[in-house]
Amino acid sequence: MAKAKTIFVCNSCGYESPKWLGKCPACNEWNSFYEEKVVKEKDGTFLADKKTRAAKPTSLNSVEGKEAVRISTGIGELDRVLGGGIVKGSLVLLGGEPGIRKIYTDSSNLQ
Ligand SMILES: [Zn+2]
Repeated sequence: MAKAKTIFVCNSCGYESPKWLGKCPACNEWNSFYEEKVVKEKDGTFLADKKTRAAKPTSLNSVEGKEAVRISTGIGELDRVLGGGIVKGSLVLLGGEPGIRKIYTDSSNLQ
């Protein structure tokens, strides 16, 4: 029967260790280790838990982004800064000197 075991994997470079490490010896990153359950197979190799391996790394070139519907604020310059307007469900924080007429809005107030 397969035996479950826990290993620690560096989130930065993938270095594996049987115990948690504060600093990765491979890439020198601090606090980058996370716990991963693995199962020992009959041939002695360890396979990661199905849940943790379900998500596979994807090249950025092959990621398809969806074009969000943008709602115009009615202020041309603000729309330009926001990339065409406010995205529904998003929150925009404006900053500036006192008295320069900052506005607050969330997209649920727009049509
Ligand atoms: Zn590392």
